Amino acid sequence: MNKGLKIFLITFLIVILIAVISVTIIKILRNNNDEKIDSSYNETAVTKMQELNLYDEINNKEYSKTIEVLLEENKLNEKYLNEYYNITYSNINNFSTIINQLLDKSYNSEEINYIISNYINNYDIILNMDYFDILSFKNISNFDINQIERYLAYQNENEDLNINTVVTYVNIGLDLEGYSKYEEYTNEEAENDLTILVNKYHKLPDDYVPSDLVSLSYSSTYYLRKEAAEAFEKLTDAGILDNVIFYPFSPYRSYDLQSRLYNGYVARDGKEAADTYSARPGFSEHQLGLAVDVRSSNLPDNLTPEHYKWMLDNSYKYGFIIRYPKGKQHITQFIEEPWHLRYLGVELATKVHDSGLTYDEYYDIYLKKTSN
Ligand SMILES: [Zn+2]
Repeated sequence: MNKGLKIFLITFLIVILIAVISVTIIKILRNNNDEKIDSSYNETAVTKMQELNLYDEINNKEYSKTIEVLLEENKLNEKYLNEYYNITYSNINNFSTIINQLLDKSYNSEEINYIISNYINNYDIILNMDYFDILSFKNISNFDINQIERYLAYQNENEDLNINTVVTYVNIGLDLEGYSKYEEYTNEEAENDLTILVNKYHKLPDDYVPSDLVSLSYSSTYYLRKEAAEAFEKLTDAGILDNVIFYPFSPYRSYDLQSRLYNGYVARDGKEAADTYSARPGFSEHQLGLAVDVRSSNLPDNLTPEHYKWMLDNSYKYGFIIRYPKGKQHITQFIEEPWHLRYLGVELATKVHDSGLTYDEYYDIYLKKTSN
């Protein structure tokens, strides 16, 4: 072998050797980093999962942003590892803390996803309470998370009611004694909204007098608000065409008149009885100038059954509803009053009529602005 070839071979072997050694050294040095390269998680999360000895377990599953954030914030609780995978990450303040607190309260991932996407401004209400079945309130449009404790208490006392009814009844106020807690409208609200709800939980200002009272053709001392008065004339005419003759006997009543009437009934029958058929002053629809009591021509203060039937079937076409129907006293808080009509306008009266609901219910479900 000539010298040149020898040197070449030796040099070649040395180069190969150096190359092999270098690759080995680089491999050893990069051993730890190999894991990072295989992981979809960021470096902080990887370091944390290695500390917790969860590297393999976590990386054998699909990437989860929720897991990554929990690791980064050092808030991953190993016992909830499986639930975390089903919790959708949401970019909100204290996400990790909130989901851990909810898990501590026994909420599952489905419930937590629901809470995070629907009640993130109110989750403190939920965190301050024991676990409850929040998904049973799903899709109830008039559900108000602020009333949750009242719903649960009322549900407890009325196990035969379905959850939608519980929500509506509590929203109306029926878990509380009538008049014990009420909202008071302003004069502007009373004047500007013909659909306003007045009941034992909604009061008018003592000094409220509608600005557009006009007298009815039946008597110059009987008043309703202009729109209601015009509608009432049409209703009366429609009755005449069907040979159903009725007259108004108590239309608009001032606060003072309502006061005298109510006190008279209390003196006669006692407060408890009077409260079932007469509103306290400030709580009467008659003060709105949008309610009128009617009587059949041969009766002093009521409709005959035939006339009542006609009224149930026809009054909504002219904008009036029977405000205190039969069998609804537990909702309206008043006995059946065939004679008491409330003006709402044709469109709304038709909807209320078709719904089969009392106005108290209809108002809560479809008209009230919710706070959620
Ligand atoms: Zn009345």
